[in-house]
Amino acid sequence: MALLPHNPNAFARSLLDRAGHHRKDETWLAAATKNEQSALLVFSKGKPFLHEESGGLVLRWLAPHVYAQLGDKSLPLLFLGLDKNGAPHFACEIADPAALSDLGLFEELRPAAPRLDWKALPDIGTARAVFDWHSRNGYCANCGTQTRVIEAGWVRKCDACNAEHYPRVDPVCIMVPTFGENCFLGRQKMWPRGMHSALAGFIEPGEAIEEAVARETLEEAGLKVREVRMHSTQPWPFPHSLMIGVLCEVEDDRETVDTSELESGRWFTRDEAKLLIAGKHPECWAPPPFAIAHQLLKSWSEEG
Ligand SMILES: [Zn+2]
Repeated sequence: MALLPHNPNAFARSLLDRAGHHRKDETWLAAATKNEQSALLVFSKGKPFLHEESGGLVLRWLAPHVYAQLGDKSLPLLFLGLDKNGAPHFACEIADPAALSDLGLFEELRPAAPRLDWKALPDIGTARAVFDWHSRNGYCANCGTQTRVIEAGWVRKCDACNAEHYPRVDPVCIMVPTFGENCFLGRQKMWPRGMHSALAGFIEPGEAIEEAVARETLEEAGLKVREVRMHSTQPWPFPHSLMIGVLCEVEDDRETVDTSELESGRWFTRDEAKLLIAGKHPECWAPPPFAIAHQLLKSWSEEG
């Protein structure tokens, strides 16, 4: 099992071993779905099945036969991996959420995530991202024929042209520009009053991460990047991004905000950044800890 203690981000560091060699093994998979030790994570339209426990939300794992009884058969029984005891873990979408209403509740992930035990987030995020991809990719991008699921939910195969399609991940760079003892945060018009956060943008084909960071920082804030420092990355299942967190030192502090992308932006001292992280800044606030922007700002604030 690979634990990455240096990655501080929610949705990273699953406790499961993906055990990808089992994905092609139909005999093993069939036995695993009958194994009493197996566990099943269920969703309804992207909402994970949870229950309230001592003031928090907890993921409710069910027995794997629930897929045969209630599963949405247009979507796969997805093999997530093995826990430390070797128990197989799966995920599925179910067709009739009302059938489980006595056992728990289906909650929208984004508002529920901060209240969930972080240990549950990587597996929920993985399954949600893969199911979202399946629901939008029923037909071959190469020839238009309907595709079928293979490899325990990790591949779609086109029998007409033999193409295989894999769940996609969209890389996004997310960065906090710094200049000496100050850092720059932006805000979008739709955000709640006072909220400021890191800059971000999709990485385009043909771009290195560093180039995308420099382009987006210049486009959004008119700041020229001098140095890029990788911080950490975060799988972000809305719907299937990978946030690549970066601290970038810029050449000067003369910003020109592009108001088509940001409503405004401003510089914060390191002490102000500490107040933002603590939720004690008098005018502004930063995203909560489950967002990588929080972790970037926190790391930088602790450097001095
Ligand atoms: Zn095809």
